[in-house]
Amino acid sequence: PALSPEAQSDDYDAALRPQRLAEFVGQPAARANLDVFVKAARSRGDALDHVLLVGPPGLGKTTLAQIVAKELGVNFRSTSGPVIAKAGDLAALLTNLEERDVLFIDEIHRLSPHVEEILYPAMEDFQLDLIIGEGPAARSVKIDLSRFTLVAATTRLGLLTTPLRDRFGIPLRLEFYSDEDLAFIVSRGARLLGITTTEDGAREIARRARGTPRIANRLLRRVRDFAIVGGADAIDREVADTALLRLDVDAAGLDLLDRRYLGLIAEHYGGGPVGIETLAAALSEPRDALEDIVEPYLLQQGYLQRTPRGRLLTARAFTHLGLPTPSGGPQ
Ligand code: ADP
Repeated sequence: PALSPEAQSDDYDAALRPQRLAEFVGQPAARANLDVFVKAARSRGDALDHVLLVGPPGLGKTTLAQIVAKELGVNFRSTSGPVIAKAGDLAALLTNLEERDVLFIDEIHRLSPHVEEILYPAMEDFQLDLIIGEGPAARSVKIDLSRFTLVAATTRLGLLTTPLRDRFGIPLRLEFYSDEDLAFIVSRGARLLGITTTEDGAREIARRARGTPRIANRLLRRVRDFAIVGGADAIDREVADTALLRLDVDAAGLDLLDRRYLGLIAEHYGGGPVGIETLAAALSEPRDALEDIVEPYLLQQGYLQRTPRGRLLTARAFTHLGLPTPSGGPQ
């Protein structure tokens, strides 16, 4: 599928990642809170409380986790929910942590239940409860762990079990970025990549990046390619606009899949409501990808509503598609 996480990330990501909290643009609420809690933990000489980062892909969850480790001056270890198959895998990771280290678990909602069980006492009491052996010979052993910080990321809070969610002292929600913040990120990325952009060129890319730094950085590089081949010296608004249209990013910043998604509901389901499974099947995209990547931005921008009976287009969506709003149709 087009929306695998691999297709979203690339080598440049690492080069463009801000290294310190002060360099991290946007997310004022999350940043301000982290700043206080990191400073407090450092002055107490204690591990930071466990942090849960919630938000759509590409908004900076991994970046913030790395920054937390840097600001605390500790090691950063990283893994992800689907990679930890057995309780023993997690136990091996945990026993190798040093005092105050940061363990980052991406996609924590995809941990298997028996691995999650291991995590509870580790987070709460810094202890592992392991069962060694089987049958009547089985015995339980307790292993003391270093006082570590778990930084976990998830795209949707609703996918986490309540007992897991309750064990994070610092839950932080990341929001889509403002155009101003994204323009700043595009300009910074251009500088780091040696690309010349005008102010309105950077702003045009920012405005059409779905509120997401990872997309902004990716569009910047693709637009740069068009600029090079087209012989433009700098990326101004016009160069950006031409390139973005050729990349199928429309004037509102919606991409091909966004428009297929909206168009399907408008033309085949009269604007909805229609169930997510039906949409996933008709678009041949995994339901998770639609819920994690496509829908959050369309909801935030007011093209879409979620109702108990399914997805419902708004008048704004019909206007965007150049279609008449059905009479008596969507609220
Ligand atoms: P997530 O883990 O939420 O999917 P990442 O942390 O991997 O997102 O961020 C994706 C890319 O976007 C990073 O490589 C980084 O270059 C860029 N990025 C994210 N947040 C910011 C930010 N606040 N400022 C600058 N660049 C950012």
